[in-house]
Amino acid sequence: MNEFQFIDHIKSKYSLRKIGDDCAVLPKDGETDQLLTTDLLIEEIDFKLEWTTPEFLGHKALAVSLSDIAAMGGKPIWAMVSIGVPEKIWNTDFLDRFYAGWFELANKYGVELVGGDVSRSPDRFLIDSIVGGEVEKGRAVLRSSAKAGDLLCVSGTLGGAAAGLALLQNGLRSGEKITTSEQKLIDKQLKPEPQVFVSNTLHSHNIPTSMIDLSDGLSSDLLHLCNQSNVGARIFAETLPIDKNLSPHFSRSERIDMALHGGEGFELLFTVGKDSISTVDRLGLTRIGEITANVGVVELIRGESITTIEPKGYLHF
Ligand code: ADP
Ligand code: MG
Repeated sequence: MNEFQFIDHIKSKYSLRKIGDDCAVLPKDGETDQLLTTDLLIEEIDFKLEWTTPEFLGHKALAVSLSDIAAMGGKPIWAMVSIGVPEKIWNTDFLDRFYAGWFELANKYGVELVGGDVSRSPDRFLIDSIVGGEVEKGRAVLRSSAKAGDLLCVSGTLGGAAAGLALLQNGLRSGEKITTSEQKLIDKQLKPEPQVFVSNTLHSHNIPTSMIDLSDGLSSDLLHLCNQSNVGARIFAETLPIDKNLSPHFSRSERIDMALHGGEGFELLFTVGKDSISTVDRLGLTRIGEITANVGVVELIRGESITTIEPKGYLHF
């Protein structure tokens, strides 16, 4: 059983109806719904201290949760951070620097830290990040509301964070003798920007019919969206907005692979009705495909060839 099958298993066993989207949507009052999300980051599994800085780690721990609020079209408001700290870190300036990175991002989006917990961990650092936000009642943008015929769109560029990971795995490090494009790719991996402002702009135009953030990778996250909406999708390879910094370092097929399957870019994947495409263009966002009635099937169109893509995003189990 992989982690998604496990989540489906407890969801059906205990009839849990609020599980399955980027955030839980909870009623607040007559005008507002609350959004709630949690993310767990564990040293050596979700990050390596050798690759990052404490400031970047603090930033990323919050960014991943802000991205889930963005994926619902909401505004983040408050956060809790719990940390498991090994002794070797406790007696250094690590936590001061971690919180400096955390607060820099929190201040940008007006997020208040309202609690957390501290415990000792045997030898690895771990972080549990909880973020709460709000959205107008009934207007959270779900994964489950895409319709066949909708256009499939994405914010920003793709593949940068995956390329940065590949460079880190090949031994490159920030600050050493590396090119500007290599540094930009590594920064995309270590210090991703949550797309809260893009989400709020889309939401204010009332155009996304469904949305998810790209945490696991386009192929995996699009399949989540398709399965939950009971639809399929078609991607046009030529239209993928691949990060230009990949060009000097990776072949065309590596670049397409990273754009399709690489995780942790935290851009937004969303669908819109056909009449909204001019707004998508005007906002500088990219149409990459369309939603089909071919339930659970994601196709890639490359010139004359049509292939079915299997999800290759990161799995913990
Ligand atoms: P994301 O990548 O957007 O953070 P996940 O893939 O982690 O989302 O989770 C998908 C859904 O499953 C979410 O609704 C999340 O709250 C829920 N979920 C994940 N792990 C658990 C768990 N251990 N218990 C209950 N729900 C979970
Ligand atoms: Mg998400």
